[in-house]
Amino acid sequence: MIEIKNKSECCGCGACASICPKNCIEMKADDEGFVYPQIDKTKCIDCRLCERACPLLHRPQQQEPLAVYGAKNSDDAVRLQSSSGGMFTAFASYLLQQQGVVYGAEMTSELQVRHCAVNDEAGLARLRGSKYVQSNLGDCYRQVRFLLQQGRKVLFSGTPCQIAGLKGFLTKEYADLYTVDVVCHGVPSGKVYAKHLQEIAAQAGEEVTKVNFRDKQQGWKHGQTLFYTENHYYGDSKRKETYMRLFLNNVTIRPSCADCAFNNKRSRADITIADYWGVDKQYPEFDDDKGVTLVIVNTDKGRELMEAVSGQIVCIKTSFDAGAEYNVAVSKSLGLHPKRAYFFENMDKKTLRALAEEIL
Ligand SMILES: Cc1cc2nc3c(=O)[nH]c(=O)nc-3n(C[C@H](O)[C@H](O)[C@H](O)COP(=O)(O)OP(=O)(O)OC[C@H]3O[C@@H](n4cnc5c(N)ncnc54)[C@H](O)[C@@H]3O)c2cc1C
Ligand code: SF4
Ligand code: SF4
Ligand code: SF4
Repeated sequence: MIEIKNKSECCGCGACASICPKNCIEMKADDEGFVYPQIDKTKCIDCRLCERACPLLHRPQQQEPLAVYGAKNSDDAVRLQSSSGGMFTAFASYLLQQQGVVYGAEMTSELQVRHCAVNDEAGLARLRGSKYVQSNLGDCYRQVRFLLQQGRKVLFSGTPCQIAGLKGFLTKEYADLYTVDVVCHGVPSGKVYAKHLQEIAAQAGEEVTKVNFRDKQQGWKHGQTLFYTENHYYGDSKRKETYMRLFLNNVTIRPSCADCAFNNKRSRADITIADYWGVDKQYPEFDDDKGVTLVIVNTDKGRELMEAVSGQIVCIKTSFDAGAEYNVAVSKSLGLHPKRAYFFENMDKKTLRALAEEIL
């Protein structure tokens, strides 16, 4: 049975809870707002399936990528709604054309971030764009297994640990499963995010109705994080906005993100996508400041996806080292901020803005 002695040993993927035949594992949030498995030992039959599924007990080895590209979706409207070059939509549209089902993180009308299934092109708008908070996977792993067993094609997207969790849960390879992960330096908890929304609502005197973590009106490189209420909007460039500053400085991220097991060529996905920061310096003619995705092709299926979308995109060949040069998260984890513990100890007593001013 899974036993977590140190919180850094659990990424919260929920593979253990999904695979448990007795349904005796529940994912519960701790005081910081991050979910961990809680086991009802009275129901456990000691089958150890949870241990077999856990991606942090079976850490992936490094594997050389097959190819690396800088790429842009040819549809500028899609690109502007996406965080980087809109490549997620290109891969997802292809899967939909194959009568497949696409899974990814959406923001609900209550502004909760959760994984969901999309069956049509219009639905892809919900999945576009990064939501910088850990998404709730619900029973998506079980849904994916059911669809694959029915012979359906599935594209599942998420953080690298969510993809590794899905693979651990499925226990075998499925020819019809395609996976895309995002380069990820960490995730903040739902509790930090909810507190930020509450503080903005208190300042505005009205509820937050929409969030855009990566608004591109002032360009991709000067992206803004914006929180809309009915009559106002609040926010700043992503380097100055309070929630993003705390996130980007590793104050609010999960303990397991301090030393991520899935970066630096250890993704278990067919394709890894990221911001191609530095493309303006390396290939200035390719950058129009509307966003370029770094696409790392990890497997033959990833190669198939890249070839299938070639008519809908423009791309240049690059290398893993070039993609990592200005984007530390591609190849490294930088640990937790030294004042992270102080932040969480004081989170219920002070505002996020006050804590950010004090710590950063
Ligand atoms: C938590 C998080 C941290 C990230 N950190 C980095 C980083 O350090 N460096 C970097 O280069 N890129 C990072 N990214 C990825 C980057 O922001 C873009 O998502 C990526 O470049 C792909 O952009 P796109 O334009 O091709 O597609 P987009 O349309 O922007 O991609 C959307 C994809 O992101 C997934 N997604 C969105 N929010 C979440 C979430 N909360 N949990 C799981 N999946 C989600 C969707 O399912 C979909 O697959 C991060 C993304 C997330 C979600
Ligand atoms: S050992 Fe088996 S029954 Fe017990 S918690 Fe793990 S998966 Fe569930
Ligand atoms: S399977 Fe996922 S949620 Fe369960 S213990 Fe392992 S890392 Fe944590
Ligand atoms: S940094 Fe690693 S452990 Fe943390 S959310 Fe991202 S993929 Fe998961």
